[in-house]
Amino acid sequence: MMSEKPLQASCADFRDGASAPGPVHSAQKDIAVTENEPLSRHTTLKLGGPAAKFALVESRRQLDGLIQNGGQLRIIGGGSNLLVRDDGVQGTVARLSGQEFNYIRQDGSCLKVGAATPLQHLVNTAAEMGLTGLEGLAGIPGTVGGAAACNAGTRDGALGDVIIRASVMELTGASGWIEASEMKFEYRRSSLKGSFVTDLELMLGRGRREEIAEKIAAIMKQRRASQPYGRRSAGCAFKNPPGDSAGRLIDAAGLKGFRIGGVSVSEVHANFFIAEKNAKSSDMLELIETVRERVNERFGTLLELEIEIW
Ligand SMILES: Cc1cc2nc3c(=O)[nH]c(=O)nc-3n(C[C@H](O)[C@H](O)[C@H](O)COP(=O)(O)OP(=O)(O)OC[C@H]3O[C@@H](n4cnc5c(N)ncnc54)[C@H](O)[C@@H]3O)c2cc1C
Repeated sequence: MMSEKPLQASCADFRDGASAPGPVHSAQKDIAVTENEPLSRHTTLKLGGPAAKFALVESRRQLDGLIQNGGQLRIIGGGSNLLVRDDGVQGTVARLSGQEFNYIRQDGSCLKVGAATPLQHLVNTAAEMGLTGLEGLAGIPGTVGGAAACNAGTRDGALGDVIIRASVMELTGASGWIEASEMKFEYRRSSLKGSFVTDLELMLGRGRREEIAEKIAAIMKQRRASQPYGRRSAGCAFKNPPGDSAGRLIDAAGLKGFRIGGVSVSEVHANFFIAEKNAKSSDMLELIETVRERVNERFGTLLELEIEIW
C-alpha cells in the first residue's frame, strides 16, 4: 500500500517544503520524444533494435502524462542489465533524466536519491560523506532506479539492504511512497520491478571515510582482476544457482572463449558474455541458450537468466 505517512524521525527533513520532491506545479516544457530510437545507444551491450518511441522524461508530471497516454510503456536506466532483441521494442521506452530525478540529498545517515542518479555517483558520494553500506555496489554500472528494480549487489551487500522507502508511479496511475516493510528484495529480484521508481530513501551507517574508501578500492581492484572490465557486456548472464557459481559451471563445461557470431564467453569470467563490433542480439540469444543447454547436459543445472531480454 502506498502512503503519504510521515517519515521516521531521522529522515524527517526530507518531508519539509523545498527539499521534498513532491508534484511539480510549475509550467513544464514539452517532453522530448524520438521515434525509432536505436536502443543500442542506451545499453552497455550496444546491441538491439529501436524503440518505436523513446522519451526523455524530466519531471514526474511528464512521467504521469506518458502513463495517462496509455499504451506499452517501459523504463530504461543505464541499460546495463538489458539485451534488446534485433527487431527492437514496440511502444514507448522512457528514460528519466534531469535535476528532478538526478540528485542526492543528505539528512544525517539518511540519503534521499533520484532514480536517474548514476549508481557509482551515489556510492562515491556516500563514501565522501562518511556513510557506509553501499561499498558492495562499487563498480556496478547503471542508475539507482535500475539497481532498485534489480536489487543490484554482490556478496558484500545489495541496494535493497538499505532502502527504507521508495517513491513510485504505477501504470494504473497510482503514485506515492512505499515503506520497506511493503517491499520484497531477494537475490537480484525486487518487488519494485514493474513500477516506475522515481526516488529512494536509504538508511546508511556512520563510518570512517578512509576505511570506506579503502573497502571500495579493494572491491574495485578485485573486479578489475576477475571481470572483463571495459568490454561490452551486461554483467553476469546468469544468476548463481544455490550454493554454486554460474561462472564456475560454465567454465567447468569447457565454454570459456566459446563463440557464436560476434559474441563470446569471456576468457576472464565465464559468466560474462562479450559483444564485439559485428555482434547481433540474435548471436547473444543463441549463445545464452547454447550455454544453458550445455551446462544442463553436463551438470543437470538449469541456469536462470540474470540479464533481462526485451
Ligand atoms: C560490467 C558490468 C558489471 C555488473 N556487475 C553487477 C554486479 O556486480 N551486481 C549486479 O547486481 N549487477 C551487475 N551488473 C548488472 C547491472 O549493472 C545492474 O543490474 C544494474 O543495477 C542495472 O541498472 P540499470 O540502470 O542499468 O538498469 P537497466 O539495465 O536500464 O534496466 C534493468 C531493469 O530495471 C528497470 N528499471 C530501470 N530503471 C528503473 C526505474 N527508475 N524504475 C523501475 N524500474 C527501472 C528496467 O525496466 C529493467 O527492467 C553489471 C553490469 C555490467 C555491464
